[in-house]
Amino acid sequence: MHSDFLCPHCRSHLRVGDYVVFRIKKKKWEGAIILMHPQVGNYHVEHHPSFIFEEGEKFDFHCPVCQHDLASSKHEDLAMVLMRDNTGETYQIYFSTIAGEKSTLKMMGEHVELYGKDSEKYVDFFTLSQLH
Ligand SMILES: [Zn+2]
Repeated sequence: MHSDFLCPHCRSHLRVGDYVVFRIKKKKWEGAIILMHPQVGNYHVEHHPSFIFEEGEKFDFHCPVCQHDLASSKHEDLAMVLMRDNTGETYQIYFSTIAGEKSTLKMMGEHVELYGKDSEKYVDFFTLSQLH
């Protein structure tokens, strides 16, 4: 199924080809471009080999178009983008901004689906009655 990914602030398309494009940053470092897999729950990431990070490092994710911080209101370690599938449904995709952590929560209305072995860590920040 083809899904588009949109910045929740400027609504620009973040998906190009088979990648979702982000600018990531840290304090005192201007950042890098990373490419993530568009399939929810697939944690394959592409980046230039000169960009070296360690497991557990936290980054700030930004829209590469409007530069807005994509930090979510649910938890400081989760970023949020919009995903629109080919039926026209729009979901909120929350994903961990910590290197090596596999946490993705896909939310539409009152319904939340968990992906990745670390996603349980964040369930308390969503209404438990929403979990299925
Ligand atoms: Zn944007």
